[in-house]
Amino acid sequence: MAVSIHPSVDSGVKAGSPGYSGGTLKCLCAKDPVTVGIGANVAFNHVCGCTKCWKPSGAIFSLVAVVSRDKLKVTQNPQKLKIVDASATIQRYACTGCGVHMYGRIENKDHAFHGLDFVHPELFDANGWEAPGFAAFVSSVIEAGTSPKAMDGIRARLKELKLEPYDCLSPALMDILATHAAKQKGTLAA
Ligand SMILES: [Zn+2]
Ligand SMILES: [Zn+2]
Repeated sequence: MAVSIHPSVDSGVKAGSPGYSGGTLKCLCAKDPVTVGIGANVAFNHVCGCTKCWKPSGAIFSLVAVVSRDKLKVTQNPQKLKIVDASATIQRYACTGCGVHMYGRIENKDHAFHGLDFVHPELFDANGWEAPGFAAFVSSVIEAGTSPKAMDGIRARLKELKLEPYDCLSPALMDILATHAAKQKGTLAA
């Protein structure tokens, strides 16, 4: 049996639709769900093994992507949202009813990813969102309780799914972080 990564990719990564322009994210509450309108396709979609992202029950990885914060709007039941950890770099807004994280926001204007909100595309009401393209923070699944002995199988499955495994972010995202840091330090001309 194949190693389970996340329900959205376990039966194969589905290609996105080129013209996808957003939709509605809905939490898992049967009654009075929180809904969030997204007015664009997501970017940098990936599976993530960190211990902070929300994961559906039983999944080892989360599915997470970014969208410009001006394209995100809470449309129903905002009163059910609560920040998981206000001191974290990413402030994750979770539904107090079902526990799903509806979006994560960076308020620090000096952060390289300021202006981007983190969302879980599996919550979209319609398919077609950008397909996940890599796996981030793979080694961190051990911190969440996965046996180190399972890692070879997990990395092999990720490669089979063409979700290249990285133990931090992807090279493209690490380069964005490093470029931002170099500009702040003056090492690189702004
Ligand atoms: Zn909910
Ligand atoms: Zn994560």
